[in-house]
Amino acid sequence: MTTRWSQTGEAARLLQQRKEINDQDFFLPHLTREEALQIVSTFREEPPSSDSPSSVSSQDTAVQSKKPILANPELPKSYKDLRNHALACTRCSLAESRKNVVFSDGVEDASVMVVGEAPGANEDNTGIPFVGAAGKFLDLLLATADLSRERNTYICNVLKCRPPGNRDPKPNEIKSCSPFLTRQIQLIQPEALLAVGSFAGRLLTGQEKTALGRIRGEVHSYQGVPLIVTYHPAALLRNPKWTFAFWEDLQLLRQVLNSG
Ligand code: URA
Repeated sequence: MTTRWSQTGEAARLLQQRKEINDQDFFLPHLTREEALQIVSTFREEPPSSDSPSSVSSQDTAVQSKKPILANPELPKSYKDLRNHALACTRCSLAESRKNVVFSDGVEDASVMVVGEAPGANEDNTGIPFVGAAGKFLDLLLATADLSRERNTYICNVLKCRPPGNRDPKPNEIKSCSPFLTRQIQLIQPEALLAVGSFAGRLLTGQEKTALGRIRGEVHSYQGVPLIVTYHPAALLRNPKWTFAFWEDLQLLRQVLNSG
C-alpha cells in the first residue's frame, strides 16, 4: 500500500515532471484537493523513516553559522522571554479582539522560517499559525521540498493577532508588531526566509509598493539572511495556476539551502 509519505514524494516527482514539460496549468493532477488535504492532515503523525528519500539528515538541516544578534532594545533577548512578552502584548487594538496570540509553530533550530500575513479564525482559536485549509496546503507544498514544521521549519506571521473579520493588516498594526518578527528572525537565525504573500514580502524586502509578482522568483536578503518571496497559499487555493510559481520558488529556496 502507498504510504502518505511516498504519496508526498510522488507529488514532488509529478511537479518536477510538469516543470520539465513546461506545463504551467495545473497542480497535482492525480489528487483531488480533498485527498491532498487528507494526506497533510495526517502525515504529521507519521515522520519519514531514515531511509525515506524525502528524509533530511540533521546534518542537512543544521544551521551552519550563527550570526550575531542585532540590537532591538525594546524587546527581550531570549526566545522564551520574547514569546512570553508577545503573549501578553497590548501594543495595538488587536489585543482587545483576539482569543489567542499566534506566536509561532515549528522548530527553533529551523533551517527555513516561513512568514505569513496574520492569523485567521482557526489560528486565533488554536494559537497556532497556518492550521486552516491554506495552512494544510502550505504543509503539503513544503513537504515536496523536504520541509516540515516537525523537522526543519519555523512558521510565524507578520501580525501575531487576528485582524477582525480577516481584514488586511493596518500600517500601524504592522509597525507595532513587526519588531517581534525582527527579533524572531534574529533569534531563530534561519538559513533562509520564505515570505508568503504580499504583506510579508513587502515588509521583509522593504519594497512596500511593489506587486508581489515582481518580487517573487529571486533571492533577496533580510539582514544578511537569504529571502525568497512567493504567493500566499490562500491565494493558491483561489488561483491554482499560481501553484506552479510557488513550487518554482520552493526550488529556489532548496537551491539556497543546498548552497549554504
Ligand atoms: N494566513 C496567514 O497568513 N497566516 C496564518 O497563520 C493563517 C492564514
